Amino acid sequence: MNASTAGSGGQIVVAGAGYAGLHVALRLTAKLRNYPAVELTLVDRHDYHQVLTELPRVAGGTRAADAVRIPLQDMLATRVRFVQTEISGFDLAGGRLLTGTGPIGWDRLVLALGSRPNDFAIPGLAQRALSLYSASDAERVWAAASKALDDAATADGPERQRRLATVVVGGGGATGVELAGELAEVLPEVASRHGLAPDLPAVWLVEAGPTILAGSSPQLIDKATRMLSDLGVQVRTNAVIAAATEDGFRLTDGQLVEGGVFVWAGGVKAPELVADSGLPAGHNGRIKVDRYLRVLDHPEIYVAGDLASVTDPRTGHVLPPLAQVALEEGETVARNLDAEQAGRPLEAFTFHDKGFVVSVGTRRGVADIAGITSGGRLAHLLKDSIEWEYRQSVKHLRGWDPVAR
Ligand SMILES: Cc1cc2nc3c(=O)[nH]c(=O)nc-3n(C[C@H](O)[C@H](O)[C@H](O)COP(=O)(O)OP(=O)(O)OC[C@H]3O[C@@H](n4cnc5c(N)ncnc54)[C@H](O)[C@@H]3O)c2cc1C
Repeated sequence: MNASTAGSGGQIVVAGAGYAGLHVALRLTAKLRNYPAVELTLVDRHDYHQVLTELPRVAGGTRAADAVRIPLQDMLATRVRFVQTEISGFDLAGGRLLTGTGPIGWDRLVLALGSRPNDFAIPGLAQRALSLYSASDAERVWAAASKALDDAATADGPERQRRLATVVVGGGGATGVELAGELAEVLPEVASRHGLAPDLPAVWLVEAGPTILAGSSPQLIDKATRMLSDLGVQVRTNAVIAAATEDGFRLTDGQLVEGGVFVWAGGVKAPELVADSGLPAGHNGRIKVDRYLRVLDHPEIYVAGDLASVTDPRTGHVLPPLAQVALEEGETVARNLDAEQAGRPLEAFTFHDKGFVVSVGTRRGVADIAGITSGGRLAHLLKDSIEWEYRQSVKHLRGWDPVAR
């Protein structure tokens, strides 16, 4: 859709049905009723949307994996053509996505492919540690923790039992904290069911920086640290992992953190196929965009979600890879695609921070909302209600579509 065809039709292709891409598709569906000639295509490798913010619960065995996979057919209207396929590359000159089912041409492309775990090239990490970036990953973490306790029940000697029953989480960001808290609360009960002492399982949280939840307020960090300690989580800060070996995480000071299960939650980067695309990449491979969320020098391509490198002018920092950022960016991209159709000026993206909430275990949490820090049961309920509201908003957006099935 170049200037001559704007407003008269064209192919809009959204790559990725995660938080950002799904919201672009849902928001745009309703807006497109005025433009019957526009074709909207959503592409993803899965035929379901994954509610990633709920993965720590799946990894802790308190939620089924299928409960965080929402079938896309339940959400999309007939107006959206969904193609389930693996995207393998980009033909930028030809305006085509390269996929397992053949090329898909675009006039406007929205890139919303999310992130991949970043192992920072730490030797052995990719082979030795599990990651937590999909419902299947989360199932694997829970299966590994359960099996480790199973093995501990038949292992010889208390030392070997203790080692097997220890889960080591690398990375003390929100994902690491939520996972460690969840496991610390759940594993004692699982141990009892295996005839083991409930205090046998141990959870370690290993963080390279001076604090967990880096970038949060000191009050929030303090509350979260105390809650983890109450749950029995051993938090190690300033502990830089040099290598992952058969025996455990080897730190740069030579110490070995031993365990039976290792999970890496230490950061994310852009998917590899984006690195080879020729699009301008910033920190961690995220794509550089202008204030309207269009790729620099490629105004026909928008980027939203974790993949977009967006600097917040108020702080000078790149916005973090968070669901709430992805949703807001998705809304702006949908509005800008609509504006292009209508010949209106584009809208610059502004992030409206709604606050930060992290669960710590199955009952408590910490929150920083509008400069006020809270911790305890209420913060956990807040996290629950954000997740509930997200699921409702997805349903509402589908229901709102005037041409829904
Ligand atoms: C365990 C965990 C807990 C989190 N908790 C929170 C939280 O509490 N609060 C918060 O704000 N954020 C949280 N986040 C971060 C949040 O989930 C991400 O910021 C958000 O998912 C980014 O949205 P996105 O649309 O950019 O990417 P995603 O939601 O990851 O979507 C990307 C989509 O692209 C598809 N895709 C990727 N590559 C290809 C390909 N080659 N071919 C076809 N399809 C492809 C994927 O299948 C996926 O559907 C959490 C993340 C994790 C992993």
